[in-house]
Amino acid sequence: MVSGSHPIEVAAPRARRSRQARVAWGQNLVTVGGDAPVRVQSMTNTDTVDVIGTAIQVKELALAGSELVRLTVNTPEAAAAVPHVREQLDRMGVDVPLVGDFHYNGHRLLTEHPACAEALSKYRINPGNVGKGDKRDKQFGQMIEAAMRWNKPVRIGVNWGSLDQELLAQLMDENSRRAVPWDAKQVMYEALISSAIDSARLAESMGMDGDQIILSCKVSGVQDLISVYRELARRCDYALHLGLTEAGMATKGTVASAAALSILLQEGIGDTIRVSLTPQPGEARSQEVVIASEILQALGLRVFVPSVTACPGCGRTTSTTFQELAKQIDDFLRLQMPVWRSRYPGVEALKVAVMGCIVNGPGESKHADIGISLPGTGEAPAAPVFIDGEKRLTLRGEGIAREFQAIVENYIEQRFGPGRAH
Ligand code: SF4
Repeated sequence: MVSGSHPIEVAAPRARRSRQARVAWGQNLVTVGGDAPVRVQSMTNTDTVDVIGTAIQVKELALAGSELVRLTVNTPEAAAAVPHVREQLDRMGVDVPLVGDFHYNGHRLLTEHPACAEALSKYRINPGNVGKGDKRDKQFGQMIEAAMRWNKPVRIGVNWGSLDQELLAQLMDENSRRAVPWDAKQVMYEALISSAIDSARLAESMGMDGDQIILSCKVSGVQDLISVYRELARRCDYALHLGLTEAGMATKGTVASAAALSILLQEGIGDTIRVSLTPQPGEARSQEVVIASEILQALGLRVFVPSVTACPGCGRTTSTTFQELAKQIDDFLRLQMPVWRSRYPGVEALKVAVMGCIVNGPGESKHADIGISLPGTGEAPAAPVFIDGEKRLTLRGEGIAREFQAIVENYIEQRFGPGRAH
């Protein structure tokens, strides 16, 4: 065997130096950017006026791992409801910071509803619809003044669906005078980036602390997002909120978000992420939080829940036993995490393997903290269990799933519980 002349580089996400914003509620301080971990955020889809419904959904998102939750604040009634949503969450012991999503009338709502301005921990401002003509800077300034008065950070969030049309027209005009005009797409990229950075500079000129400004430029195409964020990251050091807007449903939305975000995160671009998934009928809103967390965990940027390694199955295993067991263990671990996070510090790093047959089963199980290799077709009906790389016992019979779950629970108690052995 001929070995290479140099060691193969170990891949790892790069780091980008960005400023650090502080988003807080009560004792809960969520830093974004700088040396903080990449944060997961999400957004409710309830009517904010429905205080109880909104608070319940915020709690569900927070329990799933969302570190910031954004709400629609679109009417005076919604603005009036925000402090009540906050109070309800405080009563439920949920201190996740709330972000107000404003469009068109945010300047009025933040000025006329001080309790709303105070209850929110961050404001999202869309420079594309903050006002037209002379009103634009004035109304944008009113929102920045509210942020400074209440000491709140802002996200200046540009979206290609609501891009500042006056700016786009101006850039198109300038482009037509170029000797070699840019492609229309490149002009659109420029408009997105200029809108975000110029607005941030304007906010700073009004007295806003640049550390308290987070930028985003969302588009719905994967390659467009990569192009825009690479340039945005090159041109400024503000913390960046990253996400593919209108990602879509189910598999398409998940894959598109994972593809776009992973490439940028690997390059160190993105300080907080959201997966803008359209929920399927009946699907929990918190699915977008699960996917965002999984992207960060798959890249090795964060660890949220114990990982379950399972093989895809093949002709060597015709039963669905291992699929069911893998799902059961995965569901069980996720369900327990809200409680386990505090009871078993470090449990999120646990690795469990549930494998379908002898080919890769024992090997993969040995790489995990705890693993089981189920019998494939034609194998003896026995399932060896590996703990810390050693084969410890063999399960047989109908109760394999129940017994393996009990072994996992026992292992967690021993390893991560108050009287931990190692
Ligand atoms: S471990 Fe066995 S059952 Fe699973 S994919 Fe590999 S060969 Fe197939």
